Amino acid sequence: MKTPRAVVLLSGGLDSATCLYIARERGFEVEAISFNYQQRHSVELTAARKIAAAGGANHSIIDVNLRAIGASALTAEIAVPKGGAHLQGEAAIPSTYVPVRNLVFLSLAYALAEARDCSAIFTGVNAIDYSGYPDCRPDFIASFAQTAALASKSGREGRAADILTPLIAMTKADIAAEAMRLAVPIELTWSCYDPQTNGEVLAPCEQCDACLLRAQGFAALELQLPKEVIFGSPVKRA
Ligand code: ZN
Repeated sequence: MKTPRAVVLLSGGLDSATCLYIARERGFEVEAISFNYQQRHSVELTAARKIAAAGGANHSIIDVNLRAIGASALTAEIAVPKGGAHLQGEAAIPSTYVPVRNLVFLSLAYALAEARDCSAIFTGVNAIDYSGYPDCRPDFIASFAQTAALASKSGREGRAADILTPLIAMTKADIAAEAMRLAVPIELTWSCYDPQTNGEVLAPCEQCDACLLRAQGFAALELQLPKEVIFGSPVKRA
């Protein structure tokens, strides 16, 4: 029987890396896809490259300049919020939201799935311990699957790709535990939105929502873990 193939959206963070290893565990050959969207933290693409190689996946990096649209702390000169207000119940969608980013990325992932004969798309979206982004929620994912099936040749021919979200109902602690179970190279992942320049290296800021969520997830495991696991490793500047 032919090995099933899946596209995995790989940002280079903990969640998407865990998703890649879940896809591998479920027997899929993986086509990883990452996006250079002129993000503030484009260092995450270095992480994505290393993780794809470690996980035995093909890897495509697609250029989509979302800085031309801006209006986000990740793609414009807007300060990244620090201190975790959005993680303590503040309802507003945070300024790190990038206008319809996941709709754009999922659409391109779907295109790649069709082009490379993949029957599934894995995305590490999470609707529990997250910053409140609208394009990470289950109603959006269900609606996207329907739209993409209608928009594609594969869908119209009855071969619509499944949109799989294995992390959607997990807490960050669940994801951290799952990453450890699957022996994800966690120290290679990059989560921080606001890399700090420290001489020749970029280091996680340890204060943005992405850093704080990740640290909370590992803290809940009550293990003695190195800082490279808790926040990710500093990366040499390109
Ligand atoms: Zn950070």
